[in-house]
Amino acid sequence: MLQLQNFINGQFVPPVAGRYLPNIEPATGLVYGQIPDSDATDVARAVEAAQAAFPAWRALAAEKRGRLLVRLAELIEQNLEPLAQAESRDNGKPVALARMVDIPRAASNFAFFGTGVGHFASETHFQEGLALNYTVRHPLGVVGCISPWNLPLYLFTWKIAPALAAGNCVVAKPSEITPATAFLLGELCQQAGLPAGVLNIVHGTGPGAGQAIVEHPLVKAISFTGGTKTGEHIARTAAPMFKKLSLELGGKNPNLIFADCDLAAAVSTSIQSSFSNQGQICLCGSRIFIERPIYEQFKAAFLERVAGLTVGDPLLETSRQGALVSEAHLLKVQSYIELARQEGGTLLAGGERVRLDGRCAGGFFLQPTVFEGLAPNCRTNREEIFGPVVTLTPFDTEAEVLDWANGTDYGLSATIWTRDLDRAHRVAHALHAGVVWINTWLLRDLRTPFGGMKNSGVGREGGLEALRFFTEAQNVCVKL
Ligand code: NAD
Repeated sequence: MLQLQNFINGQFVPPVAGRYLPNIEPATGLVYGQIPDSDATDVARAVEAAQAAFPAWRALAAEKRGRLLVRLAELIEQNLEPLAQAESRDNGKPVALARMVDIPRAASNFAFFGTGVGHFASETHFQEGLALNYTVRHPLGVVGCISPWNLPLYLFTWKIAPALAAGNCVVAKPSEITPATAFLLGELCQQAGLPAGVLNIVHGTGPGAGQAIVEHPLVKAISFTGGTKTGEHIARTAAPMFKKLSLELGGKNPNLIFADCDLAAAVSTSIQSSFSNQGQICLCGSRIFIERPIYEQFKAAFLERVAGLTVGDPLLETSRQGALVSEAHLLKVQSYIELARQEGGTLLAGGERVRLDGRCAGGFFLQPTVFEGLAPNCRTNREEIFGPVVTLTPFDTEAEVLDWANGTDYGLSATIWTRDLDRAHRVAHALHAGVVWINTWLLRDLRTPFGGMKNSGVGREGGLEALRFFTEAQNVCVKL
């Protein structure tokens, strides 16, 4: 059985207390590995290693740091297949998705920030005849990166890459539910020649290893992606310690489909935005609002496509839907299907657990599920389900749909489908969402600010925003 280890000071080491957690394969429901159940002692060792590595790492020219990150990107690309297989097995996602999205994006994260740091300029402010002010952006020191299970290597590296590029040393914790590719990243760091202690990867639970990272006094910033409740807890711990905080949290994203849209494109992309990764992407659109004149047409075409989504072994090329990440998560999503029924929803597709034969008999599979007839403000339409469950709702006016779209505590992303340019911009600006897509979904440019409004988060990742987050600005004023 595969036993993972922590990666501390450039070496793989067991947890000090010798405790391990089971790692379950979602497609089979069986334990297939063990991961360290690390505690504050392991975290303290990782922080110590990071602190010791920091002076030399920050002193290294940005270009040299960047080259090491680009090397890591190349190694990820060279190991695309084993990484994609590991991600699929660990998470339950179709291997084709891991191969096409997760692993290439992890490589892009390192390549982007590895080269981007060379373009990270600071400002000067010239006060005519009086003074010259210039800004120095110092790395923070040791920073903590904590990531969730849905896009494991993709989101783990999205934090680590800018932190390292900006000259920080990192203590990072992947989700205890999907630790495999983070473990493999340690091996690639060794191959890339990343100096020992620059990146330390500690495995374990949120309340154990995660909490210890957040509480450690030498960890100067926390970059966290995960649930809103966890984010709230982390903020409560870290804020009184005056740590910098970046929180990327949950969502309940709306799709606004106007009657003048390209219907075929809207249907096809809405299938992606509803069910990619079994609906377990924070950017998935789970509330689909359709302008009444095309409601029935959209519904028919959408349901036809839903019927073609094959639920199957994630390791098979033919599977469009893999397993949900865990039994606990499957039960949570099923409880929302029950809630939607109780709230008066009409089930149009799915709703049931899928029992496969053979290897996957014990897997956590669920049919892609579609409801209609629910009130826009019911719990099903306000709370994050984070699974393959969407609702269809007709609307009559722009004002009405904006009101509904904005009527949740979340504000992560939104999608608008229309051919009317004026309306597209007007509606985009009126939406309470940090990311808005017009006539597309999940088209990402890594330079853009990424993050949520309201309970979807605090701060922005991506591009210069991330490099700024991982640095402390200092103004130096020179009298002329
Ligand atoms: P989660 O909050 O349960 O866990 C996320 C990470 O935090 C894990 O590594 C976990 O071990 C750790 N953690 C838990 N308690 C902690 C504590 N007290 N201190 C420190 N760390 C702790 O989230 P999840 O279930 O893994 O992920 C799903 C959630 O993530 C969904 O709500 C989803 O919307 C959100 N998400 C948001 C984004 C975004 O960019 N906004 C992206 C992906 C996922």
